[in-house]
Amino acid sequence: MIIILKPHIGRNSPEFQQILDVLRNKRNITTRIHEEIGSQQTLTEIYLIGDTALLDRNEIESLPGVERVVRVSEEYRILGRHHDDRRPTGFDYNGVRFSQDSLNVFAGLCAVDTPEHVERMMQALRDNGQVCTRMGAYKPRTNPYAFQGHGRECLPWVFELAGKYGIKVIAMEITHDSHLDEIREALQRTGNPTGVMLQIGTRNTQNFELLKIVGRQRELPVLLKRGFGITLEESLNAAEYLASAGNRNVVFGLRGMKTNMGDPHRNFVDFAHVPVVKRLTRMPVCVDPSHSVGSRDRAPDGLLDIQHVTAQGIIAGANMVLVDFHPAPQKALVDGPQALLLDELPLFLEDVAIAREAYDKRQTLARNFAAREKK
Ligand code: PEP
Ligand code: MN
Repeated sequence: MIIILKPHIGRNSPEFQQILDVLRNKRNITTRIHEEIGSQQTLTEIYLIGDTALLDRNEIESLPGVERVVRVSEEYRILGRHHDDRRPTGFDYNGVRFSQDSLNVFAGLCAVDTPEHVERMMQALRDNGQVCTRMGAYKPRTNPYAFQGHGRECLPWVFELAGKYGIKVIAMEITHDSHLDEIREALQRTGNPTGVMLQIGTRNTQNFELLKIVGRQRELPVLLKRGFGITLEESLNAAEYLASAGNRNVVFGLRGMKTNMGDPHRNFVDFAHVPVVKRLTRMPVCVDPSHSVGSRDRAPDGLLDIQHVTAQGIIAGANMVLVDFHPAPQKALVDGPQALLLDELPLFLEDVAIAREAYDKRQTLARNFAAREKK
């Protein structure tokens, strides 16, 4: 059970003490306090753990200072969407809104290579009104002899270039807790010219110790990719690890499943799960068409498979798109064959806007139908 307090009621208020006094008299109940610090106000929630089935919800809801009480199911206690749960679905980070209603495109390099390529990418983004990107500095590779990413060395100049072109958020994968320290240090040293969304890749979805460490910090939001060979439930539990450690600013990423059933695509596209994740949890959902499809193959209708699956994700309500671009894919050190070209960026963005408009219309259609049924 979660007790959500009224916006102005915090830890030090008499109402808070009174609620705790009432709870102290209940048997087998322990409490955990969570404070969500926003720019305008701090929201306080009291998590009740133990024999909550016996508690009278109305009694608790009638206490002063209580906004409402949510009965949680066992699963995804913090990130889950529970019965009668109207809590907000998103967060703001560095001036960018992430929620189950928003849509942000993160076009960028799979792997940072040269300052020239990074700068050309950032410039193209700015010229097309974009404020988010993806930039891989730490690359987990199948082959130990393959390029592993420039690591900490590239962080200062990548962050400075991002600042120069007005980029607010960079999605950047980390595979070890030292990478988190390196990113924070580099952001600080360069004077925070941009923000970073930490990415946990599909190979680390169930790296629980990494999840706990990343979850303990609340400064940087997290994009958690679905594990490529585990169930959706297992991946959603991995997201809950981040939240239970303290960080609930989590975006859930679909990137395709590893099975030959998806051939000739690199992974079996799983974007049909966009609405499922939005129904089960309050996380914004990201789709990664590049790592799903893995090539620049084009359908006879003239559209790339990457464009087709992007549109499929967006028309189903996706809130974020992580997509590989490169100014010179033949020179890319990682995943060149799936990169889109810089002059394809306006086309890609327009295609995204068309799919989003269709999604908006579909939502309106469903709402109007439901309103008519009610009458
Ligand atoms: C990536 O986004 O660069 C990446 C490696 O993705 P994934 O973890 O989904 O394979
Ligand atoms: Mn890649």
